[in-house]
Amino acid sequence: MEREYNNQFALQVMKMLEKYYKEILTCTGCAFCKKACQVYLHTRKEKDSPKGRIMISYGLLTGELKEDASIIEALQKCALCRLCESVCPSMIKITDIIKAARHDLKGMLREHERIMQEIEAWNEPIKGERLLVMNSKNEIVDEIAKKLHAAAWHGGCGGAIERIGRENEMAGRLIEKIKEAGVKQVIYYEPDCKKYFEGFDAVNIVDLIESVDAGESYAVHIPYDFDGEFVEKVKKLFEKKDVEYIHECCGGRREFKEAFPEEAEKMAKDVIQKSNGRKIITISLECYEHLKKYGNVIDLLHIAKFKD
Ligand code: SF4
Ligand code: SF4
Repeated sequence: MEREYNNQFALQVMKMLEKYYKEILTCTGCAFCKKACQVYLHTRKEKDSPKGRIMISYGLLTGELKEDASIIEALQKCALCRLCESVCPSMIKITDIIKAARHDLKGMLREHERIMQEIEAWNEPIKGERLLVMNSKNEIVDEIAKKLHAAAWHGGCGGAIERIGRENEMAGRLIEKIKEAGVKQVIYYEPDCKKYFEGFDAVNIVDLIESVDAGESYAVHIPYDFDGEFVEKVKKLFEKKDVEYIHECCGGRREFKEAFPEEAEKMAKDVIQKSNGRKIITISLECYEHLKKYGNVIDLLHIAKFKD
């Protein structure tokens, strides 16, 4: 059955893919990337592989392919986990190409349209000099905000809109609200959110953690796309403990799991299986919300002791 989509959010701008023409041409078609892509390993369809998405991007750029529902689906059925980039001998920035192709798409999946509308409509009052910005409505956000003497914003920074390939106006609105409210310090969690708070006193919540009380026998799940500096900070918290790290994508990003629930479930179950029956500690509330449906999972924030 053909997937439904509409193009009311089409961007009338220059094609972003054009910037990647030369990089696309460096793809030798070796297919090493396919073995790293959990989406492809589940569907076994060429168009769902990193290589397939590069070929589709090339086709769109040259005009050999015309956008349709199956092309939109193939380009969006990528979790942007970057595992494929870690094995590409040509060192192609595969996810940058996929993001550019998404940006150039005129059509949008119905699920993504709904997510965008929901994010853009998000509004909650901001009061206080310290603000905890999280992309989660889970009660842990309010508990942590209380511990940190901060107000809580549960609507995130609109990262999902950007990953879908559309202009993230939510981030700009949030910054305006923060300025209006006289917030002096912003606390964020996922490393990628840092870029939204340029010019602010913005601190990663991991820097406020003194220690973790993890107990015995657990595995720590860190999404592969998190930057190295952040990963090292997290690993320091677990220093001297016998920890196994699972650097894999669980399919928990909202725009991925809502559009592709079957693949997201399979990816989550793979992560759970790799923990060999141990409790999993996630480093992202989005991963936590997804993985907890399939196994014994908590987030770092549940076991964090904060500095005074
Ligand atoms: S970023 Fe992840 S999901 Fe996307 S093509 Fe690469 S390996 Fe597959
Ligand atoms: S590993 Fe790199 S060069 Fe090989 S097919 Fe994949 S994207 Fe192309």
